[in-house]
Amino acid sequence: MLALGIESTAHTYGCSVINSRKKGLKQILSNERDTYTTKKGGIIPMEAAEHHEAVKEKVLQAALKKAKVNLEDIQLIAFSQAPGLPPSLRVGTEHAKKLAKQLKVPLVGVNHCIAHLEIGKLASGAKDPVFLFISGANTQVISYAAKRYRIFGETLDMGLGNFIDSFARSVGIGFPGGPKISELAEKSNKFIELPYSVKGMDVAFSGMLTNLKQKYQGKKYKLADLAFSLQEHAFAMVIEVAERAMAYLKKKELIAIGGVAANKRFRKMADIMCRERKGKFYVPPREFVTDNAAMIAYTGALMYRADKKYALNAKTADFKPYQRTDEVDVRWVGKTNL
Ligand code: ATP
Repeated sequence: MLALGIESTAHTYGCSVINSRKKGLKQILSNERDTYTTKKGGIIPMEAAEHHEAVKEKVLQAALKKAKVNLEDIQLIAFSQAPGLPPSLRVGTEHAKKLAKQLKVPLVGVNHCIAHLEIGKLASGAKDPVFLFISGANTQVISYAAKRYRIFGETLDMGLGNFIDSFARSVGIGFPGGPKISELAEKSNKFIELPYSVKGMDVAFSGMLTNLKQKYQGKKYKLADLAFSLQEHAFAMVIEVAERAMAYLKKKELIAIGGVAANKRFRKMADIMCRERKGKFYVPPREFVTDNAAMIAYTGALMYRADKKYALNAKTADFKPYQRTDEVDVRWVGKTNL
């Protein structure tokens, strides 16, 4: 089956064509995108939507051309239905509805966060992993259990990436702080004790952030030593909760997704933990970790092949800005290799 995926939850407009008859990542025939950027400051939702309107046809044509298919060959349209910024989501939803009506093919709405999990599984070959989602705003331990992708643990205050960025900003080393803190940390191996906050399978970073800022302002500690200690504590915290979830669920695979998973020291620590448990640790390629449409096309095709009832009415389908990962009824897992 040839499926077209459309991604438009936030700053990226993406279109991808997949051929679900092929195996593994070979089924991704194209994965095109155009990302709205600002010179300074964060995303302005209405501007992102204007960007998406302006580029949507161009991105679609690029995806078809790269995949060497015609629009008329597409047999399924999948779009990122949730969660995200309403103005951005609206552009992709309307585009997908228009194409589904025009081509008279099924339309499937996909949860963007779940699509990250599914493409992670496809890229790694993992069958039933625990996921550690560590981006700017998100820190969650997720796994499939009883027909849902369930959140077993999460941050009680800020996301791991935002925590690192906040400290970096407070010491004047700019944004994004993650790569810069990582570089500094490599220059040190002096372990300074910091607040370590794990509650069951949840974590909290604000205590460590305040403590780090105080230590830096007190001028008794070198920044590199603080960066090193920050990484050692914060990564140990998220790896501890991931390990607890693996033990509790009796799972042997761990997949890390989100920008912080790029960190070398984090990868090393996670890899050691998994090997000690005789398990496997995996980080999907960057292309699938950032917002992309291939994961939408792939997940939409999985859903539709497992249950035709996932198809939406192309006239009335709507986006869901606030849908949580664990709200989605997952009827395709276990039928993955159809
Ligand atoms: P969200 O989707 O949660 O709103 P986002 O789109 O900003 O967040 P990502 O691009 O997945 O998320 O991640 C960005 C975060 O990853 C930033 O906080 C950045 O500092 C962090 N990051 C990037 N590279 C590294 C690294 N090498 N080490 C640690 N953190 C990193």
